[in-house]
Amino acid sequence: MAQPRIVIVGGGFGGLAAAKALRKTLAEVILIDRSNHHLFQPLLYQVATAVLSPSQIATPIRTILRNHKNVTVIRGEVTGVDKEQKQVLVSDADRQAVPLAYDYLILASGATHSYFGHNEFEEFAPGMKSVADAVSSRNKILQAFEQAEAEEDPIRHRDLLTFVLIGAGPTGVEMASALAVLIRSSLKSEFRRINPASARIVLADMAPRVLPPFSEDLSEAAKRRLEKLGVEVRLGHSVDRIDADGIVVGGERIASKTVIWTAGVARGQVAESGNRPRRPRACSKRCHRARTPGDLCRRRYGVIRRKRQAASRRCPGGHAARSLCRKGPSRSHNRQHAAQAV
Ligand SMILES: Cc1cc2nc3c(=O)[nH]c(=O)nc-3n(C[C@H](O)[C@H](O)[C@H](O)COP(=O)(O)OP(=O)(O)OC[C@H]3O[C@@H](n4cnc5c(N)ncnc54)[C@H](O)[C@@H]3O)c2cc1C
Repeated sequence: MAQPRIVIVGGGFGGLAAAKALRKTLAEVILIDRSNHHLFQPLLYQVATAVLSPSQIATPIRTILRNHKNVTVIRGEVTGVDKEQKQVLVSDADRQAVPLAYDYLILASGATHSYFGHNEFEEFAPGMKSVADAVSSRNKILQAFEQAEAEEDPIRHRDLLTFVLIGAGPTGVEMASALAVLIRSSLKSEFRRINPASARIVLADMAPRVLPPFSEDLSEAAKRRLEKLGVEVRLGHSVDRIDADGIVVGGERIASKTVIWTAGVARGQVAESGNRPRRPRACSKRCHRARTPGDLCRRRYGVIRRKRQAASRRCPGGHAARSLCRKGPSRSHNRQHAAQAV
């Protein structure tokens, strides 16, 4: 039998796990990513708050896979999938929509921001998904302090030194607390005309509590801790408006020059285009994240071959089916499940 070719789109956690799992097979594996690096997204907030440098959370994909002799890494953007011809279309700076044939395709292109139908917010409230996003947020935050120090009019200090984070999930909570620590400790003695500790950090979410997937007592503990750090937590109202001068939430305008979107996620573009994923069976109740759109378990389009039984009888946490599962899944659970399915 000819050597099968497996194309993996994405060198994130999912794509790398798949490439590593395929190491000892006879398959020819081609991993395509639009970046040359694998990004450790959970630490993006540390880059955005100047604790880490970008190189500490990004590693070249080639380096990670250098000992995987059957894996070829190609840098390019997958712009489409022709599932009839079994080809992906790859573009880069010089070439557009170059077809690349596959026998099996693994789409692991991750997620993107969701502005819940308000894409106009993006211009004023960028998200936090890439190194570029984190560096841009870091620059904006530090620039706000520089501008405030140079600004003669103290009335403008308040707007410049108000930082708004929208979305009180893990990213928003981590970012708000890291920002509070940056402001109240690292920057404390570095300015003369402004007091960095007077900066205002607002964390807003339409949900009634922070960290909604966690238990209520953990949410409450996280909220208390944030407030102790000086973060204003605004819950229960969706954001009505975001513009260059701040946000309107629950009918109140909060003036701010730095608004960061740490809310919703949506499927990435490739997963969105034509190849609609069929949702894997979930293990109900406790496994809140089990029904992950874009999960790799997709047979309908011949995109992925999976071990059918393993995928359908187990929750993404690898636990037995439905009612038997007593453990909530972690995101790493989902990744392990995906790699197993491959
Ligand atoms: C700020 C932040 C904090 C997080 N914190 C945690 C945490 O604490 N714990 C946790 O478990 N999870 C956390 N997560 C979630 C975790 O990072 C994701 O679940 C994980 O990265 C998903 O892995 P993935 O491989 O599906 O996608 P990704 O890691 O997003 O990788 C997708 C890859 O596909 C590439 N790609 C996308 N589209 C294309 C295309 N068209 N062509 C070519 N390449 C493409 C991208 O460049 C990227 O390298 C966090 C996420 C964020 C954004």
